[in-house]
Amino acid sequence: MILRRTTEHVKTQNWFAVGIDLLIVVIGVFIGIQVSNWNDSRKDESDARLFLMRLHEDIEQANVLSARLIERRLRYPDELRMMSDILFERSAETELDAEGCRIIGSTHYYNINIGNLPAIVELISSGRMTIIKDPNLRTALVGLQQTEAGLASYINTQIASAVDIPSKYPDLFTLTPSFDPDGGEARVRSQCDTHALRANQGFMNDFSQNVDRFDAFVRDGLAPWKSQFDAVHALVDDALDIQHANEADQ
Ligand SMILES: [Zn+2]
Repeated sequence: MILRRTTEHVKTQNWFAVGIDLLIVVIGVFIGIQVSNWNDSRKDESDARLFLMRLHEDIEQANVLSARLIERRLRYPDELRMMSDILFERSAETELDAEGCRIIGSTHYYNINIGNLPAIVELISSGRMTIIKDPNLRTALVGLQQTEAGLASYINTQIASAVDIPSKYPDLFTLTPSFDPDGGEARVRSQCDTHALRANQGFMNDFSQNVDRFDAFVRDGLAPWKSQFDAVHALVDDALDIQHANEADQ
């Protein structure tokens, strides 16, 4: 319709009217683009909020599945250090108790359930990372992916080289299964003779190497990943205005 009217204006050489017609078209196009941009931006905002809500669910689920085991693995280097001091006679204690035997016989346990957070994988693979407007959160999400890849590679290489000490030295360790009613899980009870351990140089070498491997796994793999995971959680809590009553709820 505007085309027919403009053609008539051109025929009658009414240049002022032609100018007005063109202006109407330009303004119409401009408003159309603005409305479309505004709709896109509103959709991005609502998608970002949905993503953060899903991510928070994933984080809570991961905590339920693995928090206890991760805390145990993070404590393990300190426990190993204390047991090493007893074994290598650098401590006032001279004999390992059953718990000490269990700790020394567990240096090949790397299994932890870190899993992917599906919401992040989906966001990155769909190329929509830019809907996250907070640059700190974007950086933290990328950092989490990187530390997760590093941790997975540590687990794979360390598991391949770690020595299963009780299986390799069955004469030195006696294992029995037990059920821990407080933790609701099966554990292994272990007995060993501290003097017999010290007298076996093969065991002492394998144990020393396992301690070194586990320490590197925690220091360079698990601890950086856990602190990145917690940083992402805190940023998501901030963005969604979620407050946890205490640490155990996180
Ligand atoms: Zn939270």
